[in-house]
Order: sequence, then C-alpha cells, then structure tokens
Amino acid sequence: MVVQYWGVRGSVAVPGPETVRYGGNTACVSVDLGELILILDMGTGAIPLGKYLLGSHKRIVAAFSHLHLDHIRGFPMFAPLYDEECAITLIGYDTGANDWFPTDMLDGVHFPANYLNIPCSIAKTPSSLLPGALGEHGRLSVLPVNHPGGALAFKVESGSQVLVHVPDNELVPGTASYRSLVEFARGADLLSHDAQYAESEYREKAGWGHSSWQRACGLALEASVNRLTLFHHDPDHDDEALDDIQRLSTQMFSPQTCVVAYEGLRIDLGVTGDTYP
Ligand SMILES: [Zn+2]
Ligand SMILES: [Zn+2]
Repeated sequence: MVVQYWGVRGSVAVPGPETVRYGGNTACVSVDLGELILILDMGTGAIPLGKYLLGSHKRIVAAFSHLHLDHIRGFPMFAPLYDEECAITLIGYDTGANDWFPTDMLDGVHFPANYLNIPCSIAKTPSSLLPGALGEHGRLSVLPVNHPGGALAFKVESGSQVLVHVPDNELVPGTASYRSLVEFARGADLLSHDAQYAESEYREKAGWGHSSWQRACGLALEASVNRLTLFHHDPDHDDEALDDIQRLSTQMFSPQTCVVAYEGLRIDLGVTGDTYP
C-alpha cells in the first residue's frame, strides 16, 4: 500500500510563495492498492492527482470523509472525468435521507459541465456498501468522528498493512469519541490526522472541529501506531510555521516516525524504517 499526499491544507486553498514547500492545495490523499487506486477526499489536491492518473489504467474509487468544500472542491476539475477511457466508482456520502454524490455539483449551474455529458464511466455505490468497495484489493471501514456536521475517519486494510486517515477531527481526550478512535487506530502502520493548530491556538478555537498537533501526537502514542503524519494544516500556517511544528514534534517522535505532511509526500507501508524524501 502506497499512500500519497496531493493536498494537505485545511479549510481553503492557499497557493503562493509562503506555502510553496508544504503546498496550498486542500485535502486529497491517494492509496495505491495495485490495480486500484483509492482516493480519500477530493479537495483541490485532486486536480494534480487527476492529471497524474490519466493514462494509468488504474481502477479509481473515491470516498469522502464529509462534504465541507475543502474536501470536495477538486472533483469537478478531476481530469479522468473528461476521459472516456476512465472508469470511476464513487462511494456515496450518507446525508441522512440519502446518499450524496459529488456528481451533484456538475449541474450546469455550480459548474459549467453537466454530469449527463461527462464522458468517463461512473459507477455509484451507496455508502451502505462501503466495506466491500475495494473488492479483493482490501477493506475500507469508517468511524464517525467529532466535527461540526459530522465527518468520518477512514481505515484501509490490505494484507497485513493498515492505514488510518482522519482528515477532520477535534480530539477531546476522555470522551467516548476519543476512546473509540484510539481503538479504531490501534496498532496502525500509519495514522494520518488533523493537526490544524498548535495547542496554544486551539484554546481559542475549541468547537471548530479540528485538533492541535500535540493532541494528534498524543493519540498516536495512545494507539501505539507505527508512524504518524500531521495533516490538514491551517491556511494561516506558512512554511516556516510548519517547519516549527516538524521540529517540535520530533521532540516526541523521531523524524522517521512523525512528519508534517506536504504535497508529494509518498509513504510505502511495505517499507519499514525509510526516511521521508
Ligand atoms: Zn477540512
Ligand atoms: Zn470539515
């Protein structure tokens, strides 16, 4: 299983010279499972991912943690949509009454293209069928987490390898939600978690649905995961601020086991002890 980060920013895309090293695109992570590639959220990071996937002949499956704009905004610009050779399976997001699909954005009003004219082959899978969505390539499961309006944590299991990706979540130690997530993530090869704030910033933003990097590190220790990536960076955190978080977090973890996610970060769970590029 190879995990790659295409967008690591939370809330809103922030391109520019101050974010050039970690990247300004919003949440999008790919999980390469051989002939199948799983996409976890399609923020603006899905735009470079789409260009990368053109011509790859991989089966594409996309799932969504929730429907905030920073997790869906890249879908209309996902290049495989406009390639008749491509096939995409979309897993619906349960909105309570029914499943929502990102194709609903392509209505000719919110975006110029209309879903009915999209040339690629799109299959829609209800969220109830999510556990079997990867077929023989692995198992996908989810856990509701603490975020305004609701959101999901993802677990991807393939062979003996386990990824737990939690794009948006406010960690409050001692709560039932926290304890459930500790068990959900326990022993994972890689935990990837919302780390939008420093703890000093979090105090003014409690209830906004995001975690400090210190709390993400605490979860990783409690769940005994092998590696941690800090994800969903605050749009006001420039490269220097993220360098500081990387430096401070390595007082709790080695640089080999904790990394502040950046665009282009690629982690092969089949390789242990590698250094990050
Ligand atoms: Zn978000
Ligand atoms: Zn959100």
